[in-house]
Amino acid sequence: MNNFTCVSCERKLNTSKFNKKSTICYYYLSKARVERIQTKDFLEENFTKTWSATLFKKYVLYLIELGIDAETICKNISKVLRVLQAAENELFKTF
Ligand SMILES: [Zn+2]
Repeated sequence: MNNFTCVSCERKLNTSKFNKKSTICYYYLSKARVERIQTKDFLEENFTKTWSATLFKKYVLYLIELGIDAETICKNISKVLRVLQAAENELFKTF
């Protein structure tokens, strides 16, 4: 039974890579995640300052504008998230 296809884009699922319940491909999951990280909910959960949330969202939009694919954005965005969160914490310590 290796013939599952993604319910969203009909790409063939490589079942070895996915848990058995998965019905959507990694590509689609990545796309959904890229949508999610731009939502107000996500930004509010992950940032305490407006400027950092805005920078993060602008960065995501910039990557999309460059034509970077969703999987690559997902691979790199967690580091960006951590850098901006660290900046949030560090910037105001010295003031
Ligand atoms: Zn898909």
